[in-house]
Amino acid sequence: MKIPWTTGRPGQAGLALIALLLLSFSPLAAGGKLNVVAATTDLAALVTEVGGDRINVTAIARGYQDPHFVEAKPSFLLSLRKADLLVVVGLQLEIGWLPPLITQSGNPRIQPGGPGYFDASQSAEILEIPTAQVSRAMGDVHPLGNPHYWLDPLNGLRVAGGLVQKLSQMSPADSAYFHQCLEDFRRRLTDAGKRWDEQMKPYRGRKVITYHQSWPNFVKRFGLQVVDYVEPRPGIPPSPAHVVELIALMKRQGVKLILVEPYFDLKTPQSVARETGGQVVVLMPSVGGNKEAGDYIQLFDYDINLLVKAFQQTR
Ligand SMILES: [Zn+2]
Repeated sequence: MKIPWTTGRPGQAGLALIALLLLSFSPLAAGGKLNVVAATTDLAALVTEVGGDRINVTAIARGYQDPHFVEAKPSFLLSLRKADLLVVVGLQLEIGWLPPLITQSGNPRIQPGGPGYFDASQSAEILEIPTAQVSRAMGDVHPLGNPHYWLDPLNGLRVAGGLVQKLSQMSPADSAYFHQCLEDFRRRLTDAGKRWDEQMKPYRGRKVITYHQSWPNFVKRFGLQVVDYVEPRPGIPPSPAHVVELIALMKRQGVKLILVEPYFDLKTPQSVARETGGQVVVLMPSVGGNKEAGDYIQLFDYDINLLVKAFQQTR
């Protein structure tokens, strides 16, 4: 095959051929960095850990937003059009907002099943996989299992490992670098994990309430027990009857902490806390939700420090 470089302006067929060749080549062959778009800041943080300065990373959802419901902005489309790799949480977390953006981007690489589409849930341990059919019509936003799996640091490591494989395929020349970044991340995460385990040790087995079902992986890792939720089902707002039940349950079992994601109204949790002598803790579910939770390890540092303080105050 010969590309008509020397025949002046290439004809239509020549242009199509060039476009085709550009698409099929690794973008690094053209001297650039891989453009990675992550659906959330958590995935952006993980891909940054292993991609280092060899990739450009953009996140779509902000860390303080409910990742189930993100308002689409035109700037998202611009990022998606240029993306070599799109990293998604999967398990239908982004079903309400991401699929139309992917289609509208017109970027064939990042379509589901395409060479630049990476579903991070495939690398993670997934909890709460329903054994019977769950209908979204019932409002349940977790029909395929719990999509908040990044809140177990070991899942963060698993996803980082999957990302290294993907990045290495896309940019083989940087494979050794990506693997080295992964080892560095593993070392820092393991050190931090020992610290977190030590901090949480006195509180293992403690019962808590959470607003949304965001924390099953987190509580499994750190030995807490969630006895109920402010939402009766994921995505369903609390009814007065459910709130009454919740108050009774907390009193009966001596539960003191209500963990709330920053994007939910605090009114109901606060009135439950008042009735039960408990405390509302606004725990951060995502990187970048505030300044302190600036990267993946800092996210857990922030949450665990907050939890320890709340347990100490409600002894
Ligand atoms: Zn959810």
